[in-house]
Amino acid sequence: METYKIILARQVRNTLQDVFLRAILEIDAELDRARATALVNDLLTGREVVIHGFSSDEAERLIEKTRPYGIRGSIELDECPTCQSPLTRVLNLWHVWVSGKERVSISSGRAILGPDDEKLVPDCVCLACFPEWREYHFLALQYNEYHQAKIEAVAAQSFERARLLRDRQEGLRPQMKALMDRLQGRS
Ligand SMILES: [Zn+2]
Repeated sequence: METYKIILARQVRNTLQDVFLRAILEIDAELDRARATALVNDLLTGREVVIHGFSSDEAERLIEKTRPYGIRGSIELDECPTCQSPLTRVLNLWHVWVSGKERVSISSGRAILGPDDEKLVPDCVCLACFPEWREYHFLALQYNEYHQAKIEAVAAQSFERARLLRDRQEGLRPQMKALMDRLQGRS
């Protein structure tokens, strides 16, 4: 999966917001609505917009679908400026819940989990140049799994097990923090 940059021939009017939103959600049905909306905002405020995790065919279709509304643009591959690898979408604010759509994006390699706090993270990253993002992603997934198991244990009134799972879950935090500190020091 690659990342493309859409370059609009000229700035687009705000009234075309729905056109973009519909087109984006038709092309990538698994895309979270909030992300799609953010993408549309980018399309309305800038002329160069990065579309993460679309195939070239999908990016092409977005241009096709919006052309009847007078929107003209072209697509270019957006890649890591250092190593030319495709970029990967970072999901943040997942807290301890990963939605079904996000799970699909993760398993198809379109996205990884980033920090679940309010900290600003890049929209997409290069996993080749910054492998710590992948490490962080696996820790975050594990953290999320312990959390879900803990909730189930509480529901089953297995409080001893729930405590154990909570300790394991929280035990991952220092490592997650250390990785994020390293990443933020580099970017
Ligand atoms: Zn790179």
